[in-house]
Amino acid sequence: MRRNGLESVFEKKGLYSTRERRGTLKALADYGKPLTAKQLHERIGRGSCDLATVHRTLTHFEKAGIVRVIALDGRSRWFELKDHSGHHHHVFCTSCERIEDVPMCRIAAFTRYASEKLKFRIHSHSLELFGFCPKCQKAGKSPR
Ligand SMILES: [Zn+2]
Ligand SMILES: [Zn+2]
Repeated sequence: MRRNGLESVFEKKGLYSTRERRGTLKALADYGKPLTAKQLHERIGRGSCDLATVHRTLTHFEKAGIVRVIALDGRSRWFELKDHSGHHHHVFCTSCERIEDVPMCRIAAFTRYASEKLKFRIHSHSLELFGFCPKCQKAGKSPR
């Protein structure tokens, strides 16, 4: 993401543009997949700001609606840019914690059941898949 692009995100969301915020936003945009605060910190460069600052920045981003939080089963929290690729889902390796986007949504049948049979008005949903990535399968990982 170019500097001007970064600045306009902050402007639109009413956030001050600081070096740490620009670094965090750029790292998320460049990587293009979900990251934990710790992984983000490594990508930004440990020397340029501390982990607590990354956490604080992400909290601001979350409140401003810049990032979406993916909470996987009580594990680490993952962050991705809200507008990075539209609505999608994730698949997560429970062994090495690799996470990938699944760029589709086929859950119309669930929504129909909830709204027609149970009379709910559905406003959102989340769906994450858990399994083993190819590397971990080769290493003989299996569910405990
Ligand atoms: Zn794995
Ligand atoms: Zn969906």
